[in-house]
Amino acid sequence: MTVDASAHLAAELIRDEPYYRPVGDEIDLFAAAYAGRLPVMLKGPTGCGKTRFVEHMAWRLKRPLVTVAAHEDLTAADLAGRFLLAPEGTVWHDGPLTAAVRLGAICYLDEIVEARQDTTVVIHPLTDARRALPLDKKGELVPAHPDFQLTISYNPGYQSAVKDLKESTKQRFVAIEFDYPEPAIEAEIVMREAGVAAALAGGLVDVGLRSRNLRGDGLAEGASTRMLIHAAKLVRGGAPLDAALRSAILLPITDEPDLREALAAAIAASL
Ligand code: ADP
Repeated sequence: MTVDASAHLAAELIRDEPYYRPVGDEIDLFAAAYAGRLPVMLKGPTGCGKTRFVEHMAWRLKRPLVTVAAHEDLTAADLAGRFLLAPEGTVWHDGPLTAAVRLGAICYLDEIVEARQDTTVVIHPLTDARRALPLDKKGELVPAHPDFQLTISYNPGYQSAVKDLKESTKQRFVAIEFDYPEPAIEAEIVMREAGVAAALAGGLVDVGLRSRNLRGDGLAEGASTRMLIHAAKLVRGGAPLDAALRSAILLPITDEPDLREALAAAIAASL
């Protein structure tokens, strides 16, 4: 039996500083959590900077980053690894989580709540005093490298009775709260990320605020910072503003014509 090393290539050492505009004490909090090797949960709506923050922290802490986007078909074997048939016989392939555990990487499980609960429990032994990953199929207990750390993201807005983290999973993490930044900071981010002028960025942030006010009235989420950046990039690329808003915000955010109309009216009022 051999161990395939290709999964280790999935770990990325980030060489150039990923731009991250801090909004509070999140950098110091994460650094303190990492110093104690505590598992961290980044809690907040979609597109508000959680992934960018982890990339920035991995760069700051000089640790490789392994990112896994969770989805409902993600199995424990997708995370931990599996035997695969090869010409020379059965070969064990480490999954991305196992690769991160062996290597001492930061493992980021994005949108963990999308995964089934029987998948989520594989992280439990890594998040308590055991700090080890049992590979049942292989009969191996992989002790975590001293530098290994686990971070997950969690969007409380999606919470439903069927899709939620088990209480026993939640309580293993220290949480850092994320939200869309205050307007001046969000405009700074849109300017920087899309390379647009302050006036356009400010106008788009206003659109974002108005859309977020419609949350609850049928709209699950308002326009995220990511969406505002998309709109700004379309304008920078030559699209007229109304077409950019339609393509980057109105169409992706809802399939409901009535709701789209309400949002379009709210947007028109802010321009
Ligand atoms: P999430 O992981 O919360 O869904 P992302 O981290 O992918 O969101 O953020 C979406 C985009 O918004 C990023 O690619 C980045 O361009 C931008 N962004 C959001 N917040 C920040 C921030 N504080 N600093 C820098 N960029 C940010």
